[in-house]
Order: sequence, then C-alpha cells, then structure tokens
Amino acid sequence: MDGKLRDNDISHVVEADRAHVWHHLIQHAGWTGPDPKADPRIIVEGRGMRVWDQKGKEHLDGVSGGVWTVNVGYGRERIANAVRDQLIKLPYFAGTAGSIPGALFSEKLISKMPGMSRVYYTNSGSEANEKAFKMVRQIAHKRHGGKKHKILYRDRDYHGTTIACLSAGGQDERNAQYGPYTPGFVRVPHCLEYRAQWDLSGEEYGLAAANAIEEVILREGPDTVGALCLEPVTAGGGVIVPPEGYWPRVQEICRKYDILLHIDEVVCGVGRTGTWFGYQHYGVEPDFVTMAKGVASGYAAIACCVTNERVFEMFRDDATDPMNYFRDISTFGGCTAGPAAALENMAIIEEEGLLDNTVAMGDYMLDQLRALKDKHAVIGDVRGKGLFLGAELVSDRGSKEPAPEKQVQAVVADCMAQGVVIGATNRSLPGFNNTLCYSPALIATRDDIDHLVSATDQALTRVFG
Ligand code: PMP
Repeated sequence: MDGKLRDNDISHVVEADRAHVWHHLIQHAGWTGPDPKADPRIIVEGRGMRVWDQKGKEHLDGVSGGVWTVNVGYGRERIANAVRDQLIKLPYFAGTAGSIPGALFSEKLISKMPGMSRVYYTNSGSEANEKAFKMVRQIAHKRHGGKKHKILYRDRDYHGTTIACLSAGGQDERNAQYGPYTPGFVRVPHCLEYRAQWDLSGEEYGLAAANAIEEVILREGPDTVGALCLEPVTAGGGVIVPPEGYWPRVQEICRKYDILLHIDEVVCGVGRTGTWFGYQHYGVEPDFVTMAKGVASGYAAIACCVTNERVFEMFRDDATDPMNYFRDISTFGGCTAGPAAALENMAIIEEEGLLDNTVAMGDYMLDQLRALKDKHAVIGDVRGKGLFLGAELVSDRGSKEPAPEKQVQAVVADCMAQGVVIGATNRSLPGFNNTLCYSPALIATRDDIDHLVSATDQALTRVFG
C-alpha cells in the first residue's frame, strides 16, 4: 500500500469512525463480528481489483466496492484527471442551464441506447427511480385524468431507499418498519425458477411468470396501471436471471395495455452483465431506463433517468399549458464531476474491450461456480449474467431449506479473513437471502476469478464441512 498512514494517525481515524460514523446497513452493537471490540474496517486505498485496509492488509475485491459499483476498477488516473480538470474549470451550475460534460456524456450514453433519447441527471439510483415514478404520475394526470397512475413492481426487486422507492420494493425485510407507504404501487410475482411458483420449467416458466403480471394488470384494471418497473436481473433480491421467454412476453403485455416500461439498471447498467445495459440481452424497448452505480464507477456521484422521445414529447406537446413540463429539479444533478467521470468511464470500457471481457470472464466464472456446486452440497443453485453471479446456499437440496444466515455470513467472513471480499444478498427472509454474490470489476482475469472461487471453496469447507 502506498502512503500507509502512520500508526498514530490511523488509530485516530479508527476512533473517529467508531465514535461518529453511523455506517450503512449495520447493527452497530457488535457490528464488527464475533469480537465487538475489534476495530471497524476502513478501506484506505485501491488499485485495479485490490484494496488495502487500515492495517495494510490486501483484499481482492469480488464485489466492486461493496455494492457492485467500481466497474472499471480502482486507481484510474484518467478519470481522476478528467474530474480534476472539470472541477477547476466549472464544478457546478444548475437550474435550467446545461454543462459541457453533461451534454457530451448524454450524447455518448444515448449512442449506446438505441430507441432512447433524453438524459435527466440526478445523484442516486433511488432518486433516478423517483424521477421516473414522478413522470409516470404526471403522464397519468396529463393523459388519463389521473387514473392510469399505478406502478407495478416485482417481488424481490429493489429500487432504492426513499419511501416511494420502498413502496416499490419487493424485499419486505428492507421495507418493514418504514410504513405507511406511498399508495399506488402494486406487486407482481418474482420470476426465480429455482423457487418455482408454477410446475413448469425453462421458457414455459418464463411465460407463466410474465403472464402472472398480466393477471395483476387485469385484476387492478388496465386503465389504472401506468407503468411496470423491473430490474433486468434482480440484484440484491438474490441474483435472479429471468428465464427464457420472460422478457419478450413482458414487452408484449406492456404494449397490449399501454403500460410504460421502466427498467432499473442501477446495478446492471454500464457493462455489468456484458452488454451496456442488462435489458439489451433481451431485445426489450423500454420507456425509462434508470442507472447509477456503474455510470462513473463510483469516481463521482452520478445517476440518470433516461427516457425515449415518446415520454419526452408528452412533456412538451402543449406549450400553452403552463403545467405541461416536468416541474422537477435535482440540485446535485448540476454537478459536472459526474458526467466528466462518466465519459472517461465509458471510454475505458470501450477502449479496453471490457464488455467482451465481461462476457468471457462471466462464462468462465459461471463454469467455476457450477463445478463448486458439484463439490459442495450446500450450493443449491448457481446463476448469473456476465460478471454478476450468485450461489444460493441451502441446508438441503431436496427441500431447498435456506442455509442459516449465520453460516452464510460465516462464509463471507472466512473469505474476508483470507483477504477476499464477496457479498451475500440481504438477509432474514427465508428463501432468497442466502445467496453468495459476486460482481468483480469488468477487468477481472482468470486468475482473479480462480482466487475468488478457491477462497469460497475453502470457506465452504470450513463452515459446512
Ligand atoms: N435500484 C437497484 C436495483 C439497486 O440495487 C439500488 C441500490 N443498491 C438502487 C436502485 C438504489 O440506488 P442508490 O443506493 O444509489 O439510491
């Protein structure tokens, strides 16, 4: 690790963290694991796919910054320099004005999204989704007397942390305790074949899962349903890759009932699954695409709600109506560092052929995880798309009883002790929260993947025998 902090400096940092930082997603009582007196972990530096903690210990990062974000890896001076130059030139201006990086990145982004045309800048995935929800509601008011306002979301999907996003959240364990929720959000079933709800398989299963959406639409009344919001591959809900047949039927249903299709690419967007966007595997034509994490690989905060021209037109088709525009602003949507970083991020992915690498390494890793499944009975299912993969752990392959959370966490902790960071999807609801999860940077090599898989192998042996 370059520039290692002196011992007395780092102990001050650790104490400051312990005293004042309220960490995300953590029960602070005993949060450091079995030893409540252990130091909090502070990540100090990163290079490529590796990070170093405050003790100088090296970790191979199998989850791109904890939550599937640092797609191009750490230490990209090219991005840092572009951000620095832009900040010195103009850090910020908002309101109705544009910026040079904002215009150029939107042009570049749209060139990768045939059928889409407009980029609305925000600063988090939740906020990008909120923008789409607001647009749907406004369209309902403009076009349908307020009636076609319901937004469908799927069991196990996640769309963010605000109250409206939680109202569209399919993970009850994350939603509990934050009600009352925003009205007008309606749940449709998940599409995970491993946890089958219909006695079918393959394409037939995909069709049944999509048809279940139609049933909800008919139950609610198609004239009340404005949009359907889905992740292309469900992320935190258990790395759920939709079965064959699912997406084309979903598209057909949306067209049939004039329902806007909103795809949440906050995780899958910008290369994670081996195409620029996850939906592009399935030939889908969305109306809204929201994205955040990989847009600038975490080098700056940027998120976007991208729409097609059909949606955009609905907000400017009557210049005489004073209400006929999107009455919305995002203060930090005016930061220029985000699009400046995002432009370089995208250029790196193109110039280094990282989409191809993601496909090749993703296939390789899927094979390796399948081989691990042959060895460890505790792995019930392996799934993935590109460099976004999961291994679901079960106590019994027959009953598919989820492996206990403690043991799933012990596997993650064992990997951590080996200097390898992997993830596990959210916990506490039986059936889905027992999935080990991998999302290495798109620069991953075979050696990196072998390292991730062999650490998992050793951890599984130690925890489950
Ligand atoms: N959508 C999905 C699919 C996500 O996984 C997340 C975050 N994990 C969000 C939206 C929310 O993004 P943010 O945390 O930037 O608000």
